[in-house]
Amino acid sequence: MRSDAWLSCGGGSETRPYVFPLDGCAGEFLGTIRMKYDGLKIGIVAIQGDYEAHAKVLERLGVEYTFVRTPADLAGLAGVILPGGESTTHLKVMTEEGLFQALQKFAAADGAFFGTCAGTILLAKEVHGPAQASLGLLDASVLRNGYGRQLASDVHMGQTKLRVAPLEMVFIRAPIIERVGAGVEILAEDAGHPVLVREAKVLAATFHPELSDDTAVHEYFVRMAKNGAGVAHA
Ligand code: GLN
Repeated sequence: MRSDAWLSCGGGSETRPYVFPLDGCAGEFLGTIRMKYDGLKIGIVAIQGDYEAHAKVLERLGVEYTFVRTPADLAGLAGVILPGGESTTHLKVMTEEGLFQALQKFAAADGAFFGTCAGTILLAKEVHGPAQASLGLLDASVLRNGYGRQLASDVHMGQTKLRVAPLEMVFIRAPIIERVGAGVEILAEDAGHPVLVREAKVLAATFHPELSDDTAVHEYFVRMAKNGAGVAHA
């Protein structure tokens, strides 16, 4: 986990920010990997939660990004990241700002999506524990705080389909993906549940790749966004 990791990922109670223990988690960056994606721009929904951690990863990859707070911010983007945090807060503000509908239009215009933790909850078609509205862009059913509300944070190493080497997976009050539709590819599992999945141009992780030194999942997403049918518009 990153030594400068953002520390308040919607954990703990709704009012008290979760503080992730850093002991033994501090790590050096693995070095700068640069990818050339001229003209490709990714948006990061910046309402609440760990959007700045995503921005740091994209900076390390040399990928242009912008923070998304209103529908107008979606213009010219190839993909959008929905960060971790508190999905109920995201939902409320997105609806108030007209962003909820704008994101659905963005998806219909072939925009790519990457949700982490709360972002995955917002993407899933079905949400339980309790039920709440969602963008419905991923054929999956998720259980919020599926590992329990307080004892729900952990760091695991696990295999993924992205590469041979295992990947660090930081879980913070994560949802459990209970079911995925036939069109959803499971890219990684942990404790018998899918934790990284993809359906066409939608990528979703129940963990937080943005809080690890490893840029593999973001690289995968940027390639997904790049290889789609051109740059989408709001
Ligand atoms: N438990 C949060 C929710 O239900 C998600 C936590 C996270 O993003 N780390 O929205």
